[in-house]
Amino acid sequence: STLHTWEKVDAYLTEQLIQQDSILEQVLANNKEADLPAIDVAPNQGKLLSLYAQMIGAERILEIGTLGGYSTIWMARALPEHGKLITLELDPHHAVVASQNIALAGLSQKVEIRGGEALEQLAKLEEEGAEPFDLIFIDADKPNNPLYLQWALRLSRPGTVIVGDNVVREGEVTNRHSTDPRVQGVRKFMELLAEDPRMTATAIQTVGAKGYDGFALGIVKS
Ligand code: SAM
Repeated sequence: STLHTWEKVDAYLTEQLIQQDSILEQVLANNKEADLPAIDVAPNQGKLLSLYAQMIGAERILEIGTLGGYSTIWMARALPEHGKLITLELDPHHAVVASQNIALAGLSQKVEIRGGEALEQLAKLEEEGAEPFDLIFIDADKPNNPLYLQWALRLSRPGTVIVGDNVVREGEVTNRHSTDPRVQGVRKFMELLAEDPRMTATAIQTVGAKGYDGFALGIVKS
């Protein structure tokens, strides 16, 4: 099948370009052992996030949706010594597993997991007067994507890069009549990206080990 080809190519690309990494392999094994859903980004996507962070010299990263910390670790590894990544996670079990994985990766000093509803944590960050983030990865509950994007803008500066995952959903994103609140969340997210004069953005379809999906990439202008 076609999906089989995508999987084979992903395996090939990963084998060619992504160094074997016993820590990340252990992280995925820990997630499985702890019954976390295997909805983390693929290795080549994790590395893409890490490359984005390196391209912009990110020192402060915000992630919405931690799961077991797989994407967190990819991004946090790109941080300089004094860099910081804050990641938001609703599910306390996920947060515990992530915390263990991040410790395993030796990144506990750089990574802070904040438990609870992301929307509440985002408001708290603003109340605390958090410094703007350089890179923001939105990867939690998709119905809230439009709100997460608005928060991301509030916690940004000109030049901040915002990445949204799962914006294609096997093509369902084109179905304006979809009854799936995740699809409607993504559609509204796209509209905001298009309309908001503070942002310029694009989106790319992806196929691979995680099926047919896509990501949106935007930069804050002013
Ligand atoms: N970024 C992770 C990775 O690639 O390794 C995957 C994140 S997973 C797709 C989405 C996560 O968002 C889940 O762990 C889920 O518990 C969390 N989540 C869902 N709703 C949330 C909310 N309202 N606030 C914070 N986190 C939420």
